[in-house]
Amino acid sequence: MSANRTRILHREPSRDLPVAVGGEGPFVVDSTGKRYLDASGGAAVSCLGHSERRVIDAIKAQLDRLPYAHTGFFTNEPAEALAEHLIARAPEGLGHVYFVSGGSEANETAMKLARQYFYERGETGRRHFIARQQSYHGNTIAALSAGGNAGRRAVYEPILLPVSHIAPCFEYRHRRDDETGEQYAIRAADELEAEILRLGPETVIAFMAETVVGATAGAVPPAPGYFRRIREICDRYGVLLILDEVMSGMGRTGTLYGCEQDGVSPDILTCAKGLGAGYQPIGATILSEKIFDTITGGSGAFQHGFTYIGHATAAAGALAVQQVIEEDGLLENCRAMGEALDARLRDAFGAHPYVGDIRGRGLFRAVELVEDRATKTPFDPALKLHARIKAAAMEQGLMCYPSGGTADGKAGDHVLLAPPFIVGEDHVGLIVERLGAAISAALVQAG
Ligand code: PLP
Repeated sequence: MSANRTRILHREPSRDLPVAVGGEGPFVVDSTGKRYLDASGGAAVSCLGHSERRVIDAIKAQLDRLPYAHTGFFTNEPAEALAEHLIARAPEGLGHVYFVSGGSEANETAMKLARQYFYERGETGRRHFIARQQSYHGNTIAALSAGGNAGRRAVYEPILLPVSHIAPCFEYRHRRDDETGEQYAIRAADELEAEILRLGPETVIAFMAETVVGATAGAVPPAPGYFRRIREICDRYGVLLILDEVMSGMGRTGTLYGCEQDGVSPDILTCAKGLGAGYQPIGATILSEKIFDTITGGSGAFQHGFTYIGHATAAAGALAVQQVIEEDGLLENCRAMGEALDARLRDAFGAHPYVGDIRGRGLFRAVELVEDRATKTPFDPALKLHARIKAAAMEQGLMCYPSGGTADGKAGDHVLLAPPFIVGEDHVGLIVERLGAAISAALVQAG
């Protein structure tokens, strides 16, 4: 729909959008009957595709029983059951959950929990957060302040909180030729220690990072050992570690949480997208026993809250999503199809003159495009190659998630792929075929 036919303030109001009217497994169908293979899960949301009966039935059943009851008055069965389910499978030390409506709220909650933890301990001078460049943590003000996405921050810069941003851990862009992955990981992680010392350890609340960086840089996994070193540094200075698994969590990387593969547990872990798989809006902030005990044993109340926390219908939907993932062995399929997707991407683009890097974990993959493979020089941002690829892919009947490079030229355009965990080999083949056609069309258009 174009601007003169819609009353919605869409992100880019002048753009024509097809109208989505149906879903069939990994496909979305528009009002003309055209089918789009969803190779990005929207934005890494739709991990079960668009028509999972068991989730729809669970939501309907909950609506029949009780849609919503305010958590200032009641708890409810589906939220309690979902909390039990998550905690039974959470990284070590995490013992309680706070349910919200999405990723930004989950990170906003994480930042406030971390601040209140120190407040309760009498460490009221702790006021700084440290995060990373080329990251995204959401669009509410604290979450946006933590994010290091220059484009998203620019308009709001004067009203953001002062958060320090260290360099990301990004092997393709920052590892020197004379370093191993492990050596680079130590060098990158040690930037955190330098920043804590610069600010004064007694003033730092937490370090916040995406375990596998999503939209801003494109499925960038940490170098081996990076987060173990980060954990040690945080522990040395009593700084909390917040891992944002809003995109990378809930199985996307082939394990329930990305950090399992890095051998670390955070003090607070946030998740959202794959939690409700798009069937309901829901996010979660999962916190350590230590933080829970400090607040309950201190003032006894978390100074925070939203109207829709612990929403009964959202929780019922998310619980059904997580049960389907287990019942159908979808983490195994995510790992197997992730390998298949990686292999096909390498076959198709490994020698492509404009593909600099292919990376990721599980069904969380990306292809980075560069003008010059040898120097890794990105395309001129003015060409808007990412936007051209997105449009060309939609023409082909493919949803993928391209983003632009950084204005400083430190990263190029990339295409993020995060298909549903239900895809098979045929879907994977089709994704790569249509993506290849879209990239070729976009490169021709860009001249
Ligand atoms: N954190 C990460 C890593 C994300 O990718 C996103 C969304 O893309 C968010 C937070 C914000 O989540 P939401 O859009 O649900 O508020």
